[in-house]
Amino acid sequence: MAFPTVQHKGATLTDLATRHLQSLRRRDFVAGAALIDGRWSLGEQRDVVIDPATGEEVADVARCGAADMDLAIAAAERSFRAWREFLPARRGEILRSWASLIRAHTEELAVLVTVEQGKPLGEARYEIGYGAGFLDWFAAEGERAYGETMPSHKPASLLHVRKQPIGVAAAITPWNFPVAMITRKAGAALAAGCPIIVKPAPETPLSALALARLAEEAGLPRGVFQVLVGDPVVLSAPLLRDTRVRALSFTGSTQVGRLLLGGAAETVKKVSLELGGHAPFLVFDDVDLDKAVKGAMAAKFDTSGQDCLAANRIYVQRGIYGAFVEAFASEVVRLKVGHGLEPATDIGPMTKLSVADKCRAHIDDAAARGVRVFSAKRAEKLGPNFVSPTLLSDVTDDMLIAREETFGPVAAVLPFDSEEEALARANASEMGLAAYVYTDSLRRALRLSDKIECGMVGVNTASFTGSPIPFGGWKQSGLGREGSRHGIDDYMELKYVCFGDLAA
Ligand code: NAD
Repeated sequence: MAFPTVQHKGATLTDLATRHLQSLRRRDFVAGAALIDGRWSLGEQRDVVIDPATGEEVADVARCGAADMDLAIAAAERSFRAWREFLPARRGEILRSWASLIRAHTEELAVLVTVEQGKPLGEARYEIGYGAGFLDWFAAEGERAYGETMPSHKPASLLHVRKQPIGVAAAITPWNFPVAMITRKAGAALAAGCPIIVKPAPETPLSALALARLAEEAGLPRGVFQVLVGDPVVLSAPLLRDTRVRALSFTGSTQVGRLLLGGAAETVKKVSLELGGHAPFLVFDDVDLDKAVKGAMAAKFDTSGQDCLAANRIYVQRGIYGAFVEAFASEVVRLKVGHGLEPATDIGPMTKLSVADKCRAHIDDAAARGVRVFSAKRAEKLGPNFVSPTLLSDVTDDMLIAREETFGPVAAVLPFDSEEEALARANASEMGLAAYVYTDSLRRALRLSDKIECGMVGVNTASFTGSPIPFGGWKQSGLGREGSRHGIDDYMELKYVCFGDLAA
C-alpha cells in the first residue's frame, strides 16, 4: 500500500516532519553518527530513518557492522578497569548531569521520538522525563548497593557478602520507548560500575544517538557508554559470542528474547528480558463506571496501544457489561488519529507496518466471527501504518485478539459472570507481565492481586510505572526486574568472603 499525500493546513504531512527536524538547534542530533570508543563514526554505509506517518526518509544513520561491535567490546572492557573504581557518588554525579541535560533538551528529543516512532508529541515529552528519572534513581541506588554480614556458622570467623560490578553489559532496546528503555538499562549498569553498549531498534536510532551526545557532555568516560546502530542479527552476534560481555539486557518480543537467551547460553551470560505482555483488565460490577472506562482508555490507548503494559483482554462483569461497552465505545470513536506532530493527535501511526497489519488481522478475525465493531473514523486513508482506534465487543476466548498480544489501538471486551471465572481466564496465558483489577471491594482486590499470575498489578489504576517500581514479568514475559532497588542486581555479582581463624 502506497503512502498518500495528505494535506495539513496547506502543507503535506511530509513537510511537517522535515520542518521540525530542520528547526532543531542541535544539528549533531541528526548527524546519524554512532559512538564507538569515544569517537563519532559516520560509517561507510548508511541506513535511512523513516517517518512512520508518511513513509518519508527523514534522516540517515551510520550502519555499524560486526567489526565495529568488536571495537566497541574491546573499548568497553578497557574502560571497565577505571569505571569500576570511580566512587559510586562520582558515578552518581555524572548520571545526574546526564539526566539534567536530557531534561534541558526535552523539546528536541521529543521531536526526534515523534518523528521516528510516531507517538504524539505530548507523550514523547512525557517519555523524556520518565527516561531521565531512571538516571536520577540509579545515581542514588549505586550508593546503596549494600552487601551484608551474616552470623557465622563457623567458629572464630566472619562472613560477608559484597556486590561487585559484573563487567561489560549490552542492551538491545525496542522502538516503542526509544529513550526510556535505554536509560532504564544504562542507568542501572552505569551505577553498578559496568560499561554498557547499546544497540537500539533500527526504526528509532536518532533519539538513541542524541542520548549518546548528551552522555558524552555529561562526562561519561570514553568507552563507558557506546551506541551502535545497524542490523540486529549482525550486531548481536558478537555480543552473544564474546566472553567479555557478561550481561545482556533485552526488551522486545518474546520470540527474539528466546533467541537471545539461547545465544547467550554458549557463554553463560547473565540475561535479563522484558518481553511481550497480554494484560487482562478485569472490571467488576461494583465499580464506578466512569473510572473504569477512563482506566481502560489509558491502559489500552496510551502510546497508541504500542505498549507491553497495554490491556489486551478487557473482561467486564455481566451486570455492567452493556453500560461499559456503550460508554467505552463513545470514547474510542472520539480519538483523533494523525501525525504525532499535530497538536490534536491522540493516536499516531504504528511504528512498524507489521504491527498495523497485525491489528487489522485481529479486527478482521473477530469481525468475521460476528463481534460488534466500534471504530473511529477510518484512519487507514492517512497511510498504511495508521490503524483506526477500534473496540471489539463480545469477543470470545478462541479469537486471535484474545490469544495474542495486539500491540496497537484495538480493544477487546469480553463478558464474564463470576470472580473465579475471571481469574481463571486472566491466568490462561503464557504471558504474565501486567494485570489490572477494577473493583470497589477491598477483599476482592486483595484476593485477586494475590492470585493473578503476573509481575505487576494495577488496582483501580492504569498508571503505575516509574523508577521506584520493579518492572518485569512472570512466565514467558521475562526474566529479572528493571527500575526499583532490584534493577541494579542484573549488573552485579555477589562475592562471599569468609575470614577464618580469628581466635586470639
Ligand atoms: P523485536 O523483538 O523484533 O525488536 C526489539 C529489539 O530486538 C530491536 O532492537 C530489534 O532490532 C532487536 N532484534 C530483532 N530481531 C533480532 C534478532 N534476531 N537478534 C537480535 N536482536 C534482534 O520486537 P518487535 O516485534 O519489533 O516489537 C514488538 C514486540 O516487542 C511486542 O510483542 C512487545 O510486547 C515487545 N515489547 C516488550 C516490551 C517490554 O517492556 N516487555 C517493550 C517493548 C516491546
